[in-house]
Amino acid sequence: MTTLESRTAEHERLMAEHSAHNYHPLPVVVAHARGAWVTDVEGRRYLDCLAGYSALNFGHGHPALLAAAHAQLDRVTLTGRAFGNDRIGPFCAALAALVGKDMVLPMNTGAEAVESGIKVARKWGYEVKGVPPGRARVVVADGGFHGRTTTIVGFSTDPDARGGFGPFTPGFDVVPYGDADALAAAITPDTVAVLLEPVQGEAGVVVPPPGYLAAVRAACTAHRVLFVADEVQSGLGRTGHVLATRAAGVDADVYLLGKALGGGIVPVSAVVADREVLGVLRPGQHGSTFGGNPLACAVGLAVLDLLADTGPEGMLARAARLGAELHARLGDLVGHGVTAVRGTGLWAGVDVDPRAGTGRAVSEALARCGVLVKDTHGPTVRFSPPLVVEPGEIRFAVDALAGVLSRA
Ligand SMILES: *Cc1c(COP(=O)(O)O)cnc(C)c1O
Repeated sequence: MTTLESRTAEHERLMAEHSAHNYHPLPVVVAHARGAWVTDVEGRRYLDCLAGYSALNFGHGHPALLAAAHAQLDRVTLTGRAFGNDRIGPFCAALAALVGKDMVLPMNTGAEAVESGIKVARKWGYEVKGVPPGRARVVVADGGFHGRTTTIVGFSTDPDARGGFGPFTPGFDVVPYGDADALAAAITPDTVAVLLEPVQGEAGVVVPPPGYLAAVRAACTAHRVLFVADEVQSGLGRTGHVLATRAAGVDADVYLLGKALGGGIVPVSAVVADREVLGVLRPGQHGSTFGGNPLACAVGLAVLDLLADTGPEGMLARAARLGAELHARLGDLVGHGVTAVRGTGLWAGVDVDPRAGTGRAVSEALARCGVLVKDTHGPTVRFSPPLVVEPGEIRFAVDALAGVLSRA
């Protein structure tokens, strides 16, 4: 007999026995979702304040995105790049226009966009900058997160991410995040790129000091190095802007996008840059079976449409307005179970006072109150609700956090 209560347990048994244990999820098994809310297999509802690590910026099942996906499902979903398809051209043109660059390289996952960006930067370094063969170097920041491939974890400073996965790809120099002098000092004649997140997401929503991104830009320009901005998590609305670098008044040379670009429906990522950079790729030198497939491009186009709305109910304005509400309310909890709140836009890293429990314990307690968040590292809990969330729902989430902390 299947009782309601046994459904979560049944799922957890299957996962324990047959799924690799590379995650430690909260005990919530989602069966259905709409907008900012999910329903689990027991019928319990939760406000989703993680939003798929910002892959769900526009909420679950946004009607415009679903309509685009449904329409494309009935026409053509995959061609491979051996042929053209009638969605990839419009998608690349629209994304290039939104970002203000010439060209787009469509890929699938964020890690692939990062890998592709590294390949393009190295090739640019050899062919355009004139770095001697085999010598290209890339400067990266400690605490950064760029994905899980062997090259990427090789320059991670997180022991869990890299431990046991070597040997690693050479050619990376790690500098402290937020220290522009250290970054400039790490640049050598062989440096082809500086790769970093304009706001570090997985590190706990770490916003760099004012002027940092501009100083990175200046160092890159002075030494003819590509500024590669990994905006896989910070981009496409989360901060109230299309790009977090632009919000800081800075233009990178290469933008890496992902997560929200697929509207929470399909994986879509991209490298966006000018012709001088992306033009180094010629046929046969890079590719992806699924990159630029018509379903992905159709959904991506609908995402770009949502971002093009700069009106007061558009996603960017919502993120800015609701973000101010979120930060004001979270700020009131500092000294009451919270030691610090960081972030920008509808994106917050909340450091929980260790006496109130670990980030994990607080996340579990919040789930029992109907609010889904996830700890990042140790004491930090990230709030990144979908941009379609309502002000009253933000109050609900922060009140739930206050309640959990006051009971601790
Ligand atoms: C999530 C993330 C990635 C990796 O994206 P995947 O789709 O998981 O491969 C890369 N960079 C940043 C900044 C991210 O947040």
